[in-house]
Amino acid sequence: MKQILVTGGAGFIGSHLCERLVNEGNAVICLDNYYSGSKKNVWHLIGHPGFELVRHDVTEPYRAEIDEIYNLACPASPVFYQYDPIQTTKTSVFGTFNMLGLAKRTKAKILQASTSEVYGDPVEHPQQEGYWGNVNPIGIRSCYDEGKRCAESLCFDYHRIHGVDVKVIRIFNTYGPRMAVNDGRVVSNFVVQALKGEDITIYGDGSQTRSFQYVSDLVEGMIKMMATPAGFTGPVNLGNPGEFTMLELAEKVLSKVGGKSKIVFRPLPADDPKMRRPDITLAKKELGWEPKVSLDEGLDEVITYFRQVLFQ
Ligand code: UDP
Repeated sequence: MKQILVTGGAGFIGSHLCERLVNEGNAVICLDNYYSGSKKNVWHLIGHPGFELVRHDVTEPYRAEIDEIYNLACPASPVFYQYDPIQTTKTSVFGTFNMLGLAKRTKAKILQASTSEVYGDPVEHPQQEGYWGNVNPIGIRSCYDEGKRCAESLCFDYHRIHGVDVKVIRIFNTYGPRMAVNDGRVVSNFVVQALKGEDITIYGDGSQTRSFQYVSDLVEGMIKMMATPAGFTGPVNLGNPGEFTMLELAEKVLSKVGGKSKIVFRPLPADDPKMRRPDITLAKKELGWEPKVSLDEGLDEVITYFRQVLFQ
């Protein structure tokens, strides 16, 4: 039985990961400070002998005997991470520093949840892991982007200097059940707006693109990454290469939900990336992984989920 620490375990992605790890017979310690995560996400795991929920902020050190660490803690929605940007940087940087220290002491493997945001507003398309990115260091997204970039840099220094077995993944836009109704990201916003019959808010002209990955595909990729041999560090992109404009997404959601919602256009936030699509050649080769759930299938699941949350 492996002892596995999941930071941010009560978040949207963390909760799906904890569930999978517990179901596979591991002993999971789930850390969360509930800044953007919620106890509700892991309610069904409480009482399971393989699950332990601990309120803890990763900016403070944490001690336990563990075999593996999945370091997910950090708000990931622009609305949440920009609400308290200094705390966002602290969470990424101090949090990763603390978890790398724990990995070093306990000789645990550590998987760092990095992000496609390290590529900023990319000038290379699609984005390969070798691309260094185009990031504004002083903008409103910098707390997240630069925090995550610094976290990657810490991982590689702990690997080079202390031999820590680090595994860095770069997660592209991910969606699925347990996203918060007020999460603020585009998939949940559009679905919730359509279900409530409210206006669908497109920021800018809707020509910007994103590639949306369903959460179960991501969890599979994370587990495969953790299982790679020592010395394979990544970074590895995990995302779905299907690329859509926000206008296409809005129309897809509207056609699935039906109803009377109108599309309205709102100002584009500063530094909003114009395009994003992962090159997943490396994940295919090294992890034998590729996403299985299409946007159509995933949206159906999410619409069913939000329908329950909003109306039952
Ligand atoms: N977006 C939008 N309407 C919304 C929320 C987001 O048009 O109600 C746009 C946003 O400007 C961005 C894209 O959708 O271009 C994805 O935004 P999200 O916040 O989901 O994630 P990001 O990839 O920007 O971190």
